[in-house]
Amino acid sequence: MEPFDYIILGAGLGGLSAAACLTRQGYRVLVLEKHDIPGGCCHTFDYGNYRFCADVHYISQCGAGQTIDQFLNYLDRKVEFNILDPDCIDRIITNDADFRIPLGWETLRDRLLQTFPSEARAIHHYCDEIKLIHEQIHDLTQEVRWFDQHWTDWLKLPKYWHLFVRRNWTLQTLYDRVGFSPNLQAILAGQSGDYALPPNEIALLTHTSLVWDYSEGAYYPKHHFKYFVDTIVDVITQSGGVVQYSTPVEHIQVSGQQVVGIIANGKRYAAKNAYLSDLDPKLTVALMHDQEALRRFPAKKLPKLLAYL
Ligand SMILES: Cc1cc2nc3c(=O)[nH]c(=O)nc-3n(C[C@H](O)[C@H](O)[C@H](O)COP(=O)(O)OP(=O)(O)OC[C@H]3O[C@@H](n4cnc5c(N)ncnc54)[C@H](O)[C@@H]3O)c2cc1C
Repeated sequence: MEPFDYIILGAGLGGLSAAACLTRQGYRVLVLEKHDIPGGCCHTFDYGNYRFCADVHYISQCGAGQTIDQFLNYLDRKVEFNILDPDCIDRIITNDADFRIPLGWETLRDRLLQTFPSEARAIHHYCDEIKLIHEQIHDLTQEVRWFDQHWTDWLKLPKYWHLFVRRNWTLQTLYDRVGFSPNLQAILAGQSGDYALPPNEIALLTHTSLVWDYSEGAYYPKHHFKYFVDTIVDVITQSGGVVQYSTPVEHIQVSGQQVVGIIANGKRYAAKNAYLSDLDPKLTVALMHDQEALRRFPAKKLPKLLAYL
């Protein structure tokens, strides 16, 4: 097989998007995927006469100028989206309430205040916190680039102190601080069902990104999610890139603190420029199971990591 500039592990939306952007920049990419279809969590399967996306019920950032719109424009492709009912993107039903989550952070605040007037103080506290954390995450990512860090970045810490203090908070930490009733906790955690985790295991920063993004718009591709995934694959393959299915990555070869090759389905692949992993980070580390990896990641941690294999 001809040499590739980049090798990407995993054909989930993350791996495919990276591959498509690199293809657009003129690089030749190879995507190695263990499944026999693309999309990862967002793959589509048929059942009887119907076609289902394995997970997505809606995605955010598809409006004009938002991230997905920018991404598709960059790829020079068009995918049409339906927008969900702005009055109800999620409906949460508990024993005590039937609550419709609307688009717009302030619309949600108003509806919460109208429905649960006795918890007004806690509602304002929660909504203000999420809003501030969102603003700080947004500003920080504009000012500090994780891929180009400088020691002077630390001088910006006071500006982001609020965010820094909350970096290890869970959603439950915030619930406890604002003093929500169990009913309101259940309603707001309902929208976080996406994580399949209880609030005490959900990072508050992740929760903020999710609910804020959704509050800015909820969309589903007009011609099914499969069409969205297939469009991205098409960008890669039309320009000579390869998405190779049924090829499980078995080993990431490391030498001198650099990845030098990939063993997948018993065959070795090497990239000219770099390797990108769309696999679970812990699995990625576990796949570097050679002397170099053992030295850098202490042996006592490996049994736990290897469990992810
Ligand atoms: C049940 C559920 C519902 C969700 N609902 C929504 C929603 O409504 N809206 C939304 O925006 N997000 C939703 N999400 C989240 C969203 O689906 C994920 O964030 C996103 O799909 C992750 O994409 P990814 O590319 O990072 O990872 P993945 O999709 O996990 O892709 C990783 C890829 O790597 C492959 N792989 C793994 N191991 C190997 C190996 N050894 N060798 C080769 N390939 C390998 C996998 O097969 C997979 O294709 C949901 C998630 C779940 C689980």
